[in-house]
Amino acid sequence: MASSRKRVVSGMRSTGKLHLGNYVGALQNWVRMQDEYECFFFVADWHALTTDYADTSQIKQNSIEVLLDWLAAGLNPERCTMFVQSHVPQHAEFHLLLSMITPLGWLERVPTYKEQRENIAEKDLGTYGFLGYPVLQAADILIYKGDFVPVGEDQVAHVELTREIARRFNQFYKLKDASVLPEPQALKTQAAKLPGTDGRKMSKSYGNTILLTDPEPVVRQKLKTMVTDPARVRRTDPGNPDVCPVGDLHKIFSDPETNMKVDVGCRTAGIGCIECKNWAADSLVKILNPMQQRRKKYEDDPRQAWRILNEGSERAGREASKTMNKVREAMHMSLDYNAPSSAQGAK
Ligand code: SF4
Repeated sequence: MASSRKRVVSGMRSTGKLHLGNYVGALQNWVRMQDEYECFFFVADWHALTTDYADTSQIKQNSIEVLLDWLAAGLNPERCTMFVQSHVPQHAEFHLLLSMITPLGWLERVPTYKEQRENIAEKDLGTYGFLGYPVLQAADILIYKGDFVPVGEDQVAHVELTREIARRFNQFYKLKDASVLPEPQALKTQAAKLPGTDGRKMSKSYGNTILLTDPEPVVRQKLKTMVTDPARVRRTDPGNPDVCPVGDLHKIFSDPETNMKVDVGCRTAGIGCIECKNWAADSLVKILNPMQQRRKKYEDDPRQAWRILNEGSERAGREASKTMNKVREAMHMSLDYNAPSSAQGAK
């Protein structure tokens, strides 16, 4: 049944178990969006290959872990479509067609391209696939005719590139003088700043994460070693929760009452950091516990999770096929037989 809701498309690389940074940065928003929009969420295993192509032994398991964390966080297969990118091969065909029209200069100018090639020095990213990943991203979005793409401030440029690719396609190919691909809008999401245990941005590559699957003792242990306001050397030194990573955690996950206690207690040295960290751990555990219970249901029956992916892929595949039929038709490459216009015979 056609939906009158606006359509949202977004993906997450299949990196394995998700952490609180992934939750706060994207997943939490997705859970909210599934009721307001018609959502297509995919595990981007082909995108994972653009940097991790050398060893694919874990890629399938990593995709499943991501799905389990989505389900744990509250994404519901009745309310949104979840699938694995490579299970809908139409993305690859569309990527190929879009790659034909995308100028090289557009890709070389993508800010993250240069940045990542320099930062990820241990891998050879001088590949065709890595340069072309924004084209794949454009295919992922345009194939569902997405109205919105939820992004943080740093990814707005990617959506802009998708819009440019759509415009270029529409200039070259039309269907009865009409454009084939709608241009999606960036839906800017408010992502709170989430520090990792070392105070830097929470990221798997820094090894400073708290996983959505971490059991309570692990969460408490990680918080124990978390860095604090460096000005608070002794218990009697007053501190400032606004410059303390534990203070940031409180602001995101603790209730107003606890935040008030932290603010006053820290600034007057009325509380110690150990006590403050215990409160932060309490708040995290309160959020993680129900997620972990939900996850367990699917972990105990992994076939059910796989079924959700299969059903999602079928639904996504149907939508992707509709777009690809239009794309092929506009490019005069449809699968239907057309009699050559000059044909005289067949009488
Ligand atoms: S009391 Fe809390 S907010 Fe203040 S420095 Fe210690 S851990 Fe940070």
